[in-house]
Amino acid sequence: MQPLSYLSISEDGPWATYLQQVERVVPYLGSLGRLADTLRRPKRALIVDVPIEMDDGSIQHFEGFRVQHSLTRGPGKGGVRFHPGVTLEEVMALAAWMTVKNAAVNLPYGGAKGGIRVDPKTLSMRELEKITRRYTSEIGIIIGPDKDIPAPDVNTNGQIMAWMMDTYSMNVGSTATGVVTGKPIELGGSLGRLKATGRGIFIVGRELASNISLPIEGARVVLQGFGNVGGAAAELFAAHGAKVIAVQDHTGTIYNDKGLDIPALLAWQEKWGGVAGFPECEVMDGEALWDLPCEFLIPAALEGQITVARAKRIQAKVVIEGANGPTLPGADDVLRERGIVVAPDVIANAGGVTVSYFEWVQDIQSFFWSESEINERLDRIMVEAFGRIWATAQDLKVSLRTAAFVVACTRVLSSRERRGLYP
Ligand code: NAD
Repeated sequence: MQPLSYLSISEDGPWATYLQQVERVVPYLGSLGRLADTLRRPKRALIVDVPIEMDDGSIQHFEGFRVQHSLTRGPGKGGVRFHPGVTLEEVMALAAWMTVKNAAVNLPYGGAKGGIRVDPKTLSMRELEKITRRYTSEIGIIIGPDKDIPAPDVNTNGQIMAWMMDTYSMNVGSTATGVVTGKPIELGGSLGRLKATGRGIFIVGRELASNISLPIEGARVVLQGFGNVGGAAAELFAAHGAKVIAVQDHTGTIYNDKGLDIPALLAWQEKWGGVAGFPECEVMDGEALWDLPCEFLIPAALEGQITVARAKRIQAKVVIEGANGPTLPGADDVLRERGIVVAPDVIANAGGVTVSYFEWVQDIQSFFWSESEINERLDRIMVEAFGRIWATAQDLKVSLRTAAFVVACTRVLSSRERRGLYP
């Protein structure tokens, strides 16, 4: 049996990174800074044991977590991750970043995250359903449409959300579609959700480009990651006249200086599971991706990709963080010194949670909007949120990341101040 993971917090892990980010922001919070300890600890962290009977008749126990970092501005909101590397510490940091992201976009939510320490690829469908249902039942005491609303994250999807919704509904005795988002359309999912994160990246890129007089038409775009997020972002950049010159995914890195045919590449990857083998392009060494001169560099795959060494080589004008945490803290400083503008994850990839918010609102009202209404509202919210962060960065002469944290933490702490301390 594996030793329990939740008894220690590392000095250089994700929670420590989050705390450093908070420290950077405190000097800009004025008198609200005295409440900053609220940000430095999660409100509530639930550890659950998830035992299931495996197909071979044995019983295995998995560690499950749900952390509600903040409920100050509304119910918790954040995804559920199934991964063998999940720890309480990681879930705490991810929950805290959701507090920041939700407040940065001004959604009426706190921040939460959940996960199970499991490699879902080793489970059969039946085992996957069992683990999902037992986990949902265990965390059922703290989730609910007006308490905390999970969503998909790494290795979880619409089917898993459907099982979570069903389990929660069975336990409470009525159908509660608003308990999770990212559901299939027929169970109260929202139109536009699948492409929402990529659309948000494009909107932030467009606004940022317009502020620095960088035309999208003809701009060169380099992408790492061509999945849900990267694929949708590439489609929109290409549709607006940009040239996506290089794409990297887990199968390889491809390049075409005239611009890759994105609709054809999307169809290729749908058929073959990756970009490798795509015609009408050159195959490139993966590491050389970070040297390519371009206007927009979009990391949309994994965390920790932009290291200090890579940051020194990047030749982009703008980096738009599609992935969560793709830039290491030291690399952020290097990019800033080199005049490369970084649109941080907490705003750049917030399109997904924004349309999740629309899904929840539609479920509560049982009244559903058209895709064009959703895209229009997403555009409006993202433009307003980015504009506020941009103005704050100009006023305080700080990076967009620090500005996003200042805007978000100010919102959280002023709500905290108004609510007062119970009892
Ligand atoms: P996905 O699984 O659909 O796609 C991931 C992509 O990354 C794939 O193209 C894959 O080939 C590529 N990839 C994996 N390993 C790689 C490697 N070693 N080198 C290069 N490429 C590699 O995932 P997604 O939903 O597109 O999420 C991507 C990132 O965006 C994650 O960091 C996720 O947390 C973040 N994010 C996603 C959403 C969302 O709505 N899906 C919202 C916010 C943030």
